[in-house]
Amino acid sequence: MSLKLDGKKLSLEIEEKLKNYIFDNKEMAKRNPSLAVIRIGEDPASGIYVNNKEKACSRVGIKSFIFHLKNTVEQTEIEKLINKLNLDNDIDGMLLQLPIPKKFDEQSLISCINPDKDVDGLNEQNIGKLVKNEPAMRSCTPAGIVNLLRSQNITIEGKKIVVIGRSLLVGKPLSLMLLNLNGTVTMTHSKTINLNNICKEADILIAAAGKPNLIDSTYVKEGAVIIDVGIHRLTSPDKTKTKLCGDVLLEDVIPKVFAYTPVPGGVGPMTVTMLLVNTIFSWQKQFGLSSTLNDLLP
Ligand code: NAD
Repeated sequence: MSLKLDGKKLSLEIEEKLKNYIFDNKEMAKRNPSLAVIRIGEDPASGIYVNNKEKACSRVGIKSFIFHLKNTVEQTEIEKLINKLNLDNDIDGMLLQLPIPKKFDEQSLISCINPDKDVDGLNEQNIGKLVKNEPAMRSCTPAGIVNLLRSQNITIEGKKIVVIGRSLLVGKPLSLMLLNLNGTVTMTHSKTINLNNICKEADILIAAAGKPNLIDSTYVKEGAVIIDVGIHRLTSPDKTKTKLCGDVLLEDVIPKVFAYTPVPGGVGPMTVTMLLVNTIFSWQKQFGLSSTLNDLLP
């Protein structure tokens, strides 16, 4: 039987450790860790994600501050807010909830975030440190995937790993993390020729293309590990029901693989947990607290 890589279970286990870590160290720091979340506009999915982050923070003892700005705000106003939060010693972590409305320059706003507070790990300085394999904030979804693999002692070193997708959010940082851990990594994308043949070689196949059910069993080697990053809500033809699915046609693939991540309950919960880890990592650095979290930041 195939092994389910249960992200929900692992995220609860890590959260328990984080909660204890905060409890043990808050007296020395004289305050709890804190996270500022900037949301712009009314995208309903963003509202749900921000809500989930707020709840996760409160479960472990991180104070969260939500700044919900209107779509009509000026880019300079957002920059001012980021700069204010950059200078605020009571704020350890900060993130801009993505996507933001198209009229704003997303990259330039991310560049404004103090790299020491950039809990999404998307600032150039943190990406640069990842390229150099130096400790820093790591982007959350890729770091969550590495932790999921490690939690089941799935070997990365020496393995053939194929990553589908080359986004700055997932595919690129994930490929770099796996390369730093001595995997032999192939990064593929929408212009890749013969994707099916390349995927069939993989010991570990990671699908982050954002295309529902793209990967069926013909893409997968017998006994491989398959990680499904995609998350999509599909509506039934009569429009009465909706159902979540990933980039992988799981029912077709599961009988063939050694291990897989479910959707939901695989990669998703780990992403939020890694945000908590990054926030505490920043808090820990600011107050010179003992560091026990470094293993969680690949
Ligand atoms: P993106 O659209 O920015 O990037 C998609 C990448 O996939 C691109 O590099 C593109 O070249 C590649 N691609 C597209 N179609 C392809 C195809 N047919 N064959 C090969 N490559 C193809 O998306 P993203 O932000 O990287 O996210 C990818 C998916 O992961 C989305 O479904 C997103 O919702 C999901 N996601 C989930 C989490 C989570 O926590 N579970 C976090 C981030 C993203």
